[in-house]
Amino acid sequence: MYKTITMADDLLKKVIAHAKEYGFIFPSSEIYDGLGAVYDYGQNGVELKNNIKQYWWNAMVRLHENIVGIDSSIFMHPTIWKASGHVDAFNDPLIDNKDSKKRYRADVLIEEEREKHNQKILKEIEKGRKKFGDSFDEAKARETNPNILREQAKIDEITKRYDEALNANDLEAMRQLILDLGIVCPISGTANWSEVRQFNLMFETKLGSTAEGASSIYLRPETAQGIFVNYLNVQKTGRMKIPFGIAQIGKAFRNEIVARQFVFRMREFEQMEMQFFVRPGSEMEWFAKWKAERLAWHKALGLGDNNYRYHDHEKLAHYANAATDIEFNFPMGFKELEGIHSRTNFDLSQHQKFSGKKIQYFDPELNESYVPYVIETSIGLDRTVLAVLSNSYCEEQLDGEVREVLRIPAAIAPVKFAIMPLTKKDGLPEVAQKLMKQLEIECNCQYEEKDSIGKRYRRQDAIGTPYCITVDHQTLEDNTVTVRERDTMEQVRMSIDEVVATLPQKVSMASLLRKIQ
Ligand code: ATP
Repeated sequence: MYKTITMADDLLKKVIAHAKEYGFIFPSSEIYDGLGAVYDYGQNGVELKNNIKQYWWNAMVRLHENIVGIDSSIFMHPTIWKASGHVDAFNDPLIDNKDSKKRYRADVLIEEEREKHNQKILKEIEKGRKKFGDSFDEAKARETNPNILREQAKIDEITKRYDEALNANDLEAMRQLILDLGIVCPISGTANWSEVRQFNLMFETKLGSTAEGASSIYLRPETAQGIFVNYLNVQKTGRMKIPFGIAQIGKAFRNEIVARQFVFRMREFEQMEMQFFVRPGSEMEWFAKWKAERLAWHKALGLGDNNYRYHDHEKLAHYANAATDIEFNFPMGFKELEGIHSRTNFDLSQHQKFSGKKIQYFDPELNESYVPYVIETSIGLDRTVLAVLSNSYCEEQLDGEVREVLRIPAAIAPVKFAIMPLTKKDGLPEVAQKLMKQLEIECNCQYEEKDSIGKRYRRQDAIGTPYCITVDHQTLEDNTVTVRERDTMEQVRMSIDEVVATLPQKVSMASLLRKIQ
């Protein structure tokens, strides 16, 4: 019955249009023709975003006795960014196409080329699965199928040269790889590339009112440093014992060179980060634990286990001793959704050095002081919104029409219940309003009395409302209502008492948290 949308480009375009039409995400400053890679969340988008935040916060802070949260400011002392290495090294390699004058990230051009080969492998595997059904052996196909082997060899070759160039910080080798792979600019279609140059991503602004007295500060490019510089405050006032974590949700700003792909890459975005402080030497154990725990958090959402994969980093930042991305199968292919990094004691040591303040932990069990090691989990909130929207968007043929439905996991859907009197008279609205009052203290509900029931269902499907509850004339006689489920479109008759007693649990955050507890 479902009309599948196969073209990735198509899906992304449809999601962008749908997000705008139904109040999820608008281009920022739209009446002034927008502002590049900056977006505003509308009435449904903000609910979805808040629910994802709540899921993350509760999973990290509430369900872990040894993790607490903070909310630090966006403006911070400029020396922090010197200490963290951002002033000197928070760069992306950029490359220009001389014909179209368009600018690209050299690393992204190469990664996209590599992902094309991966997509070919996935198609080949899908073909095998269709042909041989349950007897299809993916591992064997990866070892023997000549088409897959050919594509894998190309991926390996690209990876090898790419990692060598990154490790040696060799910008010319990166350019040569782009040329050798025959990568062309999608606008001009040519390979007339400039040199590759480094570009710092931090936004600089002035603090203070007069030009002379003002000093330069940066909009934070990550929330993590706010956690590091508050390490002592939290550890002392919270009497925290290692191992413990500090979590934070907040805005971050990066002057991205190429800002395409909707909310995947924005210049102002939101991060949900947690720094977990551990005893030196125990970091690999914690790294493995957080890697597994974070993937389980993603999978519990129910967007499909096959849509996630780890990408272990070959090239590590000089201070890291392990790093992995959790990638999601976005409409543009598998891309980073979350980073998990073992950052050693780099950040705290740097702040100790630059601030001159001792940042150490006295471990009573070892009877010694040390600078704690850190495991970081860092997920993009907006990228999670995009993962949910693109994965949930569905078009179905229904009675000769197309039903657009967002199959958003119920616990994070913007509106949980739509309450609808069948008509605007005969006392039905009063009964519906009374039910609304009972349900709205549990979760976000919408009251709808305009248009036919069919049209109202379509509108609710399009924003992903799990249940529509209709009050009709029979309600006046026996206190029952019709409950219609979004995905199956099944309708059942239930008493109002049963609705109030059972439905809120089905869409509750607790139902989702239970899966990972
Ligand atoms: P990328 O390689 O895609 O630029 P990154 O490795 O620089 O990402 P991190 O610095 O590890 O990203 O940031 C942690 C998380 O923040 C990322 O996994 C991503 O979900 C999110 N994020 C980073 N940059 C952006 C952005 N410009 N727009 C939206 N989300 C972002």
